[in-house]
Amino acid sequence: MTSSADEKVLDIIYIMGSGRSGSTLLSSMLGSQRDIVCAGEVYNYMNFFESAEARSRKCSCGEALLQCDYWQQIRDRLKQQKGTELLDLKDTDRHTFDENNHALLSAIRDVSGKPVIVDSSKRHYRLKLLLKSGLFRVTIVHLIRDARAYAYSSLVTARKNGESDTAYYKKILQWQKKNIGIKAIYGRHPRYVQMRYEDLVRNHEAELERVMRLCDLTLDTGRVFDPSVNQSHEFSGNSGFISKGLDEIKLDTRYLESLSARQWLVSSTLVAPCLTLFGYPVFSRGVPA
Ligand SMILES: [Zn+2]
Repeated sequence: MTSSADEKVLDIIYIMGSGRSGSTLLSSMLGSQRDIVCAGEVYNYMNFFESAEARSRKCSCGEALLQCDYWQQIRDRLKQQKGTELLDLKDTDRHTFDENNHALLSAIRDVSGKPVIVDSSKRHYRLKLLLKSGLFRVTIVHLIRDARAYAYSSLVTARKNGESDTAYYKKILQWQKKNIGIKAIYGRHPRYVQMRYEDLVRNHEAELERVMRLCDLTLDTGRVFDPSVNQSHEFSGNSGFISKGLDEIKLDTRYLESLSARQWLVSSTLVAPCLTLFGYPVFSRGVPA
């Protein structure tokens, strides 16, 4: 490859998974690294900047979104290059998708000065289009959390909203469908990394290293919990929240005590093969080994 072709191809770390599975933690940790920038849920870019609420929204740096200098520089570049700052990144026409996404992502790379971009959009169609295009070198991180922990956190929300506990079982089945789908479609991709949230919490160094090695980067452990380097500019999500260091990162195990015996048994039976596939204990209550 010539150097100009190299420069055109953008390095993306794409997070896939079920939501509520620790993607904010993962992207914050990656974003602490010198050569990695978190772009958040990139696919939503236009919605965030064109809506009326944009004026009241905040960037994750704390500044009002429309006052943030980082985004202002990106928007200026887009205006100059494309005639508009509002690019639709959801357009699935391949040519438009490539053009718009490459323009925004390269503006993010150039303004941040960081060569690798974390995209936590978690959308299938988006990953498919990024992979089909020759413009991106995509590392796929399939982030998985215990089905019962994931569904329990949805149950807590459902209860607050006065909904019934059946939401829990729906989520369990959705978890299975989504994670089996991701594994089946992308599992053989040469740049696919399967990662359990529980392992990330327990041994973040080893887990982050697996991803960074694929991007030809070396982990700088000192930066992971250094709040002074953890400045992020995300228009969505709440990244940049690791401010108090390692103590803040603990596995949330409330689901282990809070689910009833029946809920545990029924949900574990429903998705038993899939739990086993990802190394989770099926019937005994505990965190994976
Ligand atoms: Zn900002």
